[in-house]
Amino acid sequence: MAQFAVIGLGRFGITIAETLVKKGAEVIAIDNDEKKVEEVRAFVTNSVCLDSTDEQALRAIDIGNVDAVVIAIGENIEVSVLTAAILRKIGVGKILAKVDSELHARILTIMGVQRTIFPEQYVGREIANLLISQHVFTYTEISKEHSVVEISVPSFFVEKSLKDLDVRNKYNISIIAIKSTKPTVDELGNNILLEDTNVLPSAEDVLHQSDRIIIIGKNNDVDALVKIAEKRKMQE
Ligand code: ATP
Repeated sequence: MAQFAVIGLGRFGITIAETLVKKGAEVIAIDNDEKKVEEVRAFVTNSVCLDSTDEQALRAIDIGNVDAVVIAIGENIEVSVLTAAILRKIGVGKILAKVDSELHARILTIMGVQRTIFPEQYVGREIANLLISQHVFTYTEISKEHSVVEISVPSFFVEKSLKDLDVRNKYNISIIAIKSTKPTVDELGNNILLEDTNVLPSAEDVLHQSDRIIIIGKNNDVDALVKIAEKRKMQE
């Protein structure tokens, strides 16, 4: 079973710990505030009150053997950087860290932290992308240049097969899933909408008006398709 440690039990750290536990992972939750440690005691595998700048304390809980450590301390850069340095020294293979600024991210990256997360920037970008178009339901940047985006089916895609659309050549994107809803009746006789996701659809699959598609591509290409869809909608 995968084992992780989360250092810093603010809202960010607790959310990560909770989600990891729900997905079946073992989680060691760490904070230097006993109250925070108490808050998570009931649902994590192990909760420990210690100062993450104390190398001996981290070695004592065998932190070097977990699959990844999340440093969820954003505000105090000194503590975050020192914690990362100690984890590197101990030999932790994978470190991810919450950051509060670009400078903080740069320092940690130089120190070998594999992934830095700027939660406000991350969520801010996603919200802005959702606001920009009524067609976009989720917008997830998977690298600096690429995104996975869930959009409603553009009107000029309706009742066409993926083969006819040839989106890879025409728009430089790929459709990786089709989400559809089908009206049906449940065991109690209620009318309900059944959600179905067709992952990796085939060339013969046809898109319907009420469907949503999940596309992957370069940000520019994804944005270009969304813009064309918006423009056509306004003209209809
Ligand atoms: P969030 O925005 O996630 O709610 P926060 O606003 O509480 O976080 P942060 O400064 O990022 O603020 O701190 C996150 C947690 O890290 C706090 O619960 C804090 O007690 C803990 N923490 C701070 N310093 C240390 C340390 N040296 N060792 C262990 N935990 C620490």
